[in-house]
Amino acid sequence: GGAARLYRAGEDAVWVLDSGSVRGATANSSAAWLVQFYSSWCGHCIGYAPTWRALAGDVRDWAAAIRVAALDCAEEKNQEVCRTYDIHFYPTFRYFKAFTKAFTTGENFKGPDRELRTVRQTMIDFLQNHTEGNRPPACPPLDPLQPSDVLSLIDSRGGHYVAVVFESNGSYVGREVILDLIPYENIVVSRALDGDAAFLETLGIPSVPSCYLIHPNGSRGLVNVAKPLRSFFSSYLKSLPNVRKKSLLLPEKPNKEENSEVMVWREFDRAKLYMADLESGLHYLLRVELATHRSLAGAQLKTLRDFVTVVAKLFPGRPPVRKLLEMLQEWLASLPLDRIPYSAILDLVNNQMRISGIFLTNHVKWVGCQGSRPELRGYPCSLWKLFHTLTVQAHPCFEDDPQAVLQTLRRYVHTFFGCKECGEHFEAMAQESMDSVKTRDQAVLWLWSRHNAVNSRLAGHLSEDPKFPKVPWPTPDLCPACHEEIKGLDSWNEGQVLVFLKQHYSSSNLIDTYSA
Ligand code: FAD
Repeated sequence: GGAARLYRAGEDAVWVLDSGSVRGATANSSAAWLVQFYSSWCGHCIGYAPTWRALAGDVRDWAAAIRVAALDCAEEKNQEVCRTYDIHFYPTFRYFKAFTKAFTTGENFKGPDRELRTVRQTMIDFLQNHTEGNRPPACPPLDPLQPSDVLSLIDSRGGHYVAVVFESNGSYVGREVILDLIPYENIVVSRALDGDAAFLETLGIPSVPSCYLIHPNGSRGLVNVAKPLRSFFSSYLKSLPNVRKKSLLLPEKPNKEENSEVMVWREFDRAKLYMADLESGLHYLLRVELATHRSLAGAQLKTLRDFVTVVAKLFPGRPPVRKLLEMLQEWLASLPLDRIPYSAILDLVNNQMRISGIFLTNHVKWVGCQGSRPELRGYPCSLWKLFHTLTVQAHPCFEDDPQAVLQTLRRYVHTFFGCKECGEHFEAMAQESMDSVKTRDQAVLWLWSRHNAVNSRLAGHLSEDPKFPKVPWPTPDLCPACHEEIKGLDSWNEGQVLVFLKQHYSSSNLIDTYSA
């Protein structure tokens, strides 16, 4: 198992934080921070990593004012700190203002989307939300100048360049250029709005955005660039004679880490189910995913109770693990409280194990869910396998409600699954068609067909493991009887699929070989 890294300290422009550094970095810092708390197994986080890297590279020169960072909550050593910061879903984006004295969990990023440009613009808004007293000292004023201020700038002789970006209200170009030039000396960049047409005319500015430049010797005029874009203005100003990059005293970034992970590949049979996957998944669910919550109450607590009931009744685990689940279920059912600190649940799980030798693996070990890289497959794979197993194992005690197991899984995913988008997609699918399930067999097939819908949606995504392509499952080699050709088209024989699922996810197909 072990940690996967989507970002590499020293290689990417992203500041890689961890349990040891996040507090010190963000507390009382002379710069603001934007931190992405992610999980390396979350497909959306994997898919988003190129954008985050590109953003960090794009605003590298803003680092004295605001920094782009990432912290992997899937790493064992970071779990406690992610709990402290109240991270329940991945990715979660948090802003931290400069010079915060007391501990803060940060402010959530709010934007219509997470496109690079949107995030960059909210970074600017965030910088402007600082009060005058706590603004990062390296951050130049970002508010527009009045025409009278511009005139006095033109008259003053500061011995350096003065650039003024004229733009319309709502344009971010001026502020971006101001921030781009932070590490450069011999130049001061400001911005002004285009509200006063007569004033623009006196300066000879025909259109906005435009950049007006006053040279150290007093000569002045419009900057001539091929396109009125941020990158054109910034690069023009950076290459003026005597404008040089100063060496800013930034804290050292941690050096490139040695990748100490050794992945041991375990041979396995794709036609089998491995106890190691199911138990590792349960371990992760109980000790890590749920443990991101400090306490549970109300609907969340009910969801956990119902989920544990289903798992305790149906999980075809080894006897000690089933015993543990039963105890947990009884304890949850008997508690008169309507709020439980999650630590109490962890204590129960861990103490019972110590006292009675009842054992649920306390680390992840993937077999059928191994990925060809550490961030691929793993936990979400094991969760699917657990869910299919539960729908197949559903026995007559859930007979009167054929949807009971599915509805419980649905609530678990929506309430607790750390991959928030996954939970939302799954909920949308459930709303669309879970109602049509009228028998236990239909419940098994519903989950199968929805899983295939997810597979086809994710085919070609960055989180797809090249060794385990997302294709309709079971493939013809696994189940020849499941496939037929109807009018020249590959089609499912659902009766055979059901037979196959019941065999594949049965206890007789479950192998103990690699269990902990
Ligand atoms: P998985 O899809 O995890 O499948 C695990 C195993 O299940 C396969 O190896 C195979 O043995 C078996 N299997 C495959 N298909 C079926 C089937 N149709 N029926 C029964 N068994 C099957 N990731 C995203 O990026 N976006 C999402 O919206 C998203 N939604 C998810 C929703 C849920 C409820 C879950 C549990 C996960 C979700 N994921 C999502 C994660 C994603 O589906 C995969 O789990 C992840 O990419 C790992 O893929 P994998 O190759 O291990 O195969």
